[in-house]
Formats: sequence, C-alpha cells, structure tokens
Amino acid sequence: MNEEKSKATMLKEQLMMKERKGAGDYKAEVLKEADAFCEDYKKFLDNSRTEREAVKYTVELAKKNGFEEFVPDKEYKAGDRIYVVNREKALGLAVIGKNGTKNGVKLAIAHIDSPRIDLKPNPLYEDNGLALFKTHYYGGIKKYQWTTVPLSLHGRVVKLNGEKVDICLGENDDEPCFLITDLLPHLDKEMATKTVSKAFTGEELNILVGSMPFDDSDDKNLVSLNVMKILNEKYGIVEGDFLSAELCFTPCYKTRDIGFDRGLIGGYGHDDRCCAYPSVKAIFDTEIPECTSITYLTDKEETGSDGNTGMQSDFLRYFIYDLAKIDGEEGYRVLSKSKCLSADVNAAFDPTYASAYEPKNASFINEGVVISKYTGHGGKYDTSDASAEFMGEIRSMLEKNEVKWQIGELGKVDIGGGGTIAKYVANMNVDVVDLGVPVLCMHAPFEVIAKSDIYMAYKAFFALFN
Ligand code: MN
Ligand code: MN
Repeated sequence: MNEEKSKATMLKEQLMMKERKGAGDYKAEVLKEADAFCEDYKKFLDNSRTEREAVKYTVELAKKNGFEEFVPDKEYKAGDRIYVVNREKALGLAVIGKNGTKNGVKLAIAHIDSPRIDLKPNPLYEDNGLALFKTHYYGGIKKYQWTTVPLSLHGRVVKLNGEKVDICLGENDDEPCFLITDLLPHLDKEMATKTVSKAFTGEELNILVGSMPFDDSDDKNLVSLNVMKILNEKYGIVEGDFLSAELCFTPCYKTRDIGFDRGLIGGYGHDDRCCAYPSVKAIFDTEIPECTSITYLTDKEETGSDGNTGMQSDFLRYFIYDLAKIDGEEGYRVLSKSKCLSADVNAAFDPTYASAYEPKNASFINEGVVISKYTGHGGKYDTSDASAEFMGEIRSMLEKNEVKWQIGELGKVDIGGGGTIAKYVANMNVDVVDLGVPVLCMHAPFEVIAKSDIYMAYKAFFALFN
C-alpha cells in the first residue's frame, strides 16, 4: 500500500478547511479539565435562576476571589480587583491593567436573564376550587414547552413599609413546586386542529398554586384566601404587596449530565449563563492584564436590552468613564479604543431539525466556541456585523491560544433570526463580535450544551484579557 499522501490530500490540507471531528479533536487531559470546570458551572446554574440570584451568587464568589466594591474617585493600581452592582440585577467585575484604560479596556459581556414566566402585577385568583396565578411570559418561549414542567417561585416583594422580602421556593426537594396545566390527549381534539402558536396562548399560562380551602364555611374563594394566609405566615405579605413585586417562575429541576458518555449538560438558563460563568471565571483568573479588563453581566437581553439594567442603559458606560477619570483619560476616547466579546450563545445544529440550518455555516456541539459575525434577521437588519479586521484579530487570538472555535449563523437566511447585546456595544464605538457556546433546544425549559464548548469559552475570554 502506498503510505505517501496523494498530491490532492496534501493540497487539501494546505488550502481547505478541516473536516469536523467533534470532541475527537481534544486531548484527553483537555476533556478532563472541561469536566472539572463544569462541576462548578452546574452549581452556578442551579443557584442562578434569575438575574438577581446570579448577581448575588457571583458577588459572593467575587469577594472570595479578592474583589472589592468599587469606590468612585479612589486611586487604583494595576492588579486591583473591583466590582460594581447595578440595582442588584447587573454586575461589573474589573481587574485594573498595567496600562489602565489608556489603550482602551477589554470587555466580555454576557446576560444573566433567561426566558421564564413572570407573574402579572395582580396574579391571584380562584376558579372551581383551584387557586391560580395569572402570568406574563418573559422572553421568547415556545409556550407549549412550559406546560406540565415543575416550576419554582423566585423574586422580591417590597411591602408598603419599604421592607424587602426575597422569595425562593420550590428548589429543595422538601418544598412544594408549581406548574402550568395542560389538556389531556383524550380531550384535545379541538386543540389539535389549531397551529401550535394558536393552541397555546399567553393568557392560558396560569400557574396552579393551591387547592385547600381556609375552612369549611360557605364563604367564597376560600382556597385563594388560604394561599394568601400561607404567604402571609411565611413572608409577611398581603395580596396588595404583589403590586410592588418582581416574581417569576422558572423550572426547578437540577442541572444534569446528558448521555451515556456524560459529554453534555442539560439545565435551565444555559442561555446565557453558560457564557456568563466562563467570563466570570476568566476575570477571576486574570492577575495583572495589560489593559484593564472587565466582565459585565447584564439583564433584560431576552426582552431587547431596554431598561436601566439592560445593555442599552448607560450604567457600563459610566463605569468605564469612572475608570478613565482615575487615569486622567477621556471616557469616550477609552471606549473608542476598547474591544469586546459579546458573550452569547448560538443555535447548535440539531440533526432532528436539520432543515432549519445551513450546515456549512451552522455551529455544532463539541466544535468549540462559536463566533457569530452578525445576528439579526432578513437582509442583516438589527445587528452589528463585525469587521474583517476585528474578525481577523479575534481569529488569530483564538488560534494562538489553542482555543477550538467555529463560525455560526443563526439558522438559514430568512428563516428567522435573533439579536444580542453586540449592537449596543458597537454603538458605543467599541469593536465587538459575538462569541459563545452552541446550545441545543435554546429557550426551552431544559437546554443542552457540551462541556468542551463551555470550557473553550472560558479559554477564549481568558485569552482576551491576557
Ligand atoms: Mn442569549
Ligand atoms: Mn436568548
């Protein structure tokens, strides 16, 4: 047999893109590192069902990693570690660089909100002996996926006297959980004739919260009264307090390994906490970078980044201006020299629904971090399309640091679309591109990622800072 490579094979190796090999590209020790990395990620995910919980959990971690709350106008030196919190829902973590902000800052920005079921301001009602909550879903969901899923209650209530009450109920096995009901197949003939978007409506996403009456009197609405009594005993709240609350339901099942080989992780809220966690870990592991480096965790991405805790708010800009001021720099000049990885997920190719993807430009599980040059929809509307120059810079950074990466478009042209925070960062005159983890079943109550891909995301953010 001829052992020598043919001319065509040699030329192919020289000129053409490599074939996909999935996790087969990795050395065993890298996969082992990825495994270990994911153990802490699972804890993070289980403790971060909402943006408030993610901020609280991450601040605790940050303190243990030597971060102190930022004090404006204080002098900071290279290697100092600081954090800023915006309204308990967004968080900045910075390590001061040798050159401070003089040559711009390095940014990794992920979002910590995920699709979920919010309560309406006045949620409680009773119907035929059952107590229910009215809801208003948050973010892009396929409504049918959220019925008959065990849910837990999260959030904050502010009482009339100003007292804040935090609620987290349904996460522990000895606590009750909740659900949205669905019709049995025996009786859904009428429902089955409708399209999915019409068969499940927002107003039908009601949460079952009780069934036991307060007593056996002839009074009306004794089940909902009993629910309120229990809430009052446990949290000291009355029905009117729902009006000044942010409460939501999220899936309550724990993050689990998926598959016989345990290469994947299933959990609620990978989008976008599977990018938030590696960017947090990367800043923790950064000692003295050249440029001041910042991991920023933002809120409200799933609803368009509006509001004062979303990426369209000036909070991060003001923080960077504060850092610039310490160095005697102009904030806007610092921004225009800054570079950012918008750390967000993309849709991993799903062989069962192959027709939604264009395989030459789709991202695949176990092929590493995915760079989305642009997102948006239609003829590249509503997106920041990263320049050839910045793509070139990031590409060579990843190759140099042995970070496995791939390119990914969000599905076929014109089939749908989506957005990230990248365009709001670009509007600040910062160079930015999306880089994150490919996700299966994105926005479902249980999403799936690969351990190797989240580990590569960590390596990418670490490379950016260092
Ligand atoms: Mn996202
Ligand atoms: Mn999303």
